[in-house]
Amino acid sequence: MDIISDRLKQIQPSQTLVISAKAREMKAKGRDIISLSAGEPDFGTPENISQAGIRAIQTGQTKYTDVGGTLQVRQAIANRLNTDYGLDYTADEVAVSSGGKQVIFNAMMASINPEDEVIIPTPCWVSYPDIVTLAGGKPVMVVCDEKTTGFKLQPQQLREAITEKTKWLIINSPCNPTGVTYSKEELRALCDVLLEFPNIWILTDDIYAKLTYDGFVASTIVQVEPKLKERTVTMNGVSKAYSMTGWRIGYAAAPVEFIKAMMKLQGQSTTNACSISQAATIEAVSGPQDFIQDMTSTYQKRRDIVLEQLNATPGLSCIKPEGAFYLFPSIHDCIGKTSKSGVKIVDSESFVTALLEEEGVAAVHGAAFMMEGYFRISYATSTELLKEACTRIKQFCMNLQ
Ligand code: PLP
Repeated sequence: MDIISDRLKQIQPSQTLVISAKAREMKAKGRDIISLSAGEPDFGTPENISQAGIRAIQTGQTKYTDVGGTLQVRQAIANRLNTDYGLDYTADEVAVSSGGKQVIFNAMMASINPEDEVIIPTPCWVSYPDIVTLAGGKPVMVVCDEKTTGFKLQPQQLREAITEKTKWLIINSPCNPTGVTYSKEELRALCDVLLEFPNIWILTDDIYAKLTYDGFVASTIVQVEPKLKERTVTMNGVSKAYSMTGWRIGYAAAPVEFIKAMMKLQGQSTTNACSISQAATIEAVSGPQDFIQDMTSTYQKRRDIVLEQLNATPGLSCIKPEGAFYLFPSIHDCIGKTSKSGVKIVDSESFVTALLEEEGVAAVHGAAFMMEGYFRISYATSTELLKEACTRIKQFCMNLQ
């Protein structure tokens, strides 16, 4: 009998983790590799936040907490949501998990019955479809192409994708992998459609909400349409905004009955998120926020440098996104060509594989994000390395024949 379940066989390993592991392996063998594949800030966790974690250890905050987190961290998060968006969640309507990823996992596992449909605009973060599939649901991918939609779900597309079986819409703004961010007006238009379908829940993944540029301020669904609060899970976390990927803290704000359902599941899986990380999160969301401004102005400068270089590279073109730390250039003009070592570029995977082998730059193929003809690079790395990576990418493309 096969030990691996049929359920697990339906899903893929996270492609971003696979490529990052391959780049690390090549590096370990002595290859000069620049990794632009991981979705991880290169800044350290701010000192005041780290110190709060150390204090938590020293004062014995090293025991189980409530499954959904301490009252203090839940209240601090509720306050943050109030300051940032004017939302009025109570501490009971907030729960903390081990990363935003677990929040999404909890939400899907707690709600999906076989064949329930989840609308996912693509390109999308690699994990959404697999989490939905694991939960027994059916991911319904709605293609939001660059030319006609600017990579953003249009109200008409949403309307057309809805069926009797639709349980959720997942919306991610700023978006991984494109960096595009929905304006208040664009969210308003989606909310208007959602108001017509009272059975559909919304999961808004706001993990990159603080990383926006050119003065753009990200909005969230419940802020735009308070009537949707009763069926929205607002998901966020500290990984990206506070450079805390390893601390593993994400959170949900949602109706109390749904929070209870997610915590019933979490109580039978991981129990509470790390108590030390919870204490550090209180400092992250309640302490000084100026670190974020410093970080985003650095990201913005890097975005502009890389964007200029990519758009000056033969065969590539890239839109200017307002958020996150990714660029998603088109490789349409490279398809069908052959690289210097004789690899035929037939799709985004052959492009990134040849780029890694020949020039030592690790990036992720668009197909991993459900969009062929593109690749994703993360500019959360030093400006110096980014410039070198751009030179190599240019070299690679210039060698294509
Ligand atoms: N959502 C998106 C769009 C992401 O890109 C990520 C991480 O890459 C996450 C959620 C999960 O982040 P974490 O589990 O570190 O909070």
